[in-house]
Amino acid sequence: MNLKRIEDITSQILAKFDSNELPVPIRKIAEDLGIKIHSYDLGENISGVLVIKNDQGIIGVNPTEQLVRQRFTIAHELGHFVLHKNSNESIFVDKDYKVLFRDQQSSTGENRREQEANAFAASILMPRKLLIEQIENHFTDLTDENAVKGLAKMFNVSVIAMTIRISNLRLF
Ligand SMILES: [Zn+2]
Repeated sequence: MNLKRIEDITSQILAKFDSNELPVPIRKIAEDLGIKIHSYDLGENISGVLVIKNDQGIIGVNPTEQLVRQRFTIAHELGHFVLHKNSNESIFVDKDYKVLFRDQQSSTGENRREQEANAFAASILMPRKLLIEQIENHFTDLTDENAVKGLAKMFNVSVIAMTIRISNLRLF
């Protein structure tokens, strides 16, 4: 699945929400799509799980991790639910997503799904349109580290996630 298609899917979900709200209300969006979210201490390095049973999704998120991480995890698991529900697997277990970013070179099916879920998470938490609007309206200088930190705070994501997003959208 190409990135453009993933951007289209997240735009459609956000449009249904009529949400220009920042930060993006990711828990509310997931719950409205019929997903239950529970906090589970999943152990070190496990950020989240998604269990799909009879078409219903349950996301387990590790409450010991930072809030920005938990938001990214929910968005990532929601990505699996939306994009990969029809694949054979019904359980997804996700490690610390920084590990996943590092592993992106691999082209196995599993890694492709992880990349897609990460792309979904980035594009729903940092919608292209809203991000560009913020940058243009505030004449944000993206070479300024503090400006990028400010954007990360506004979208309630980590600075690394924001930096990757800006770079992928070629906004630098
Ligand atoms: Zn995953």
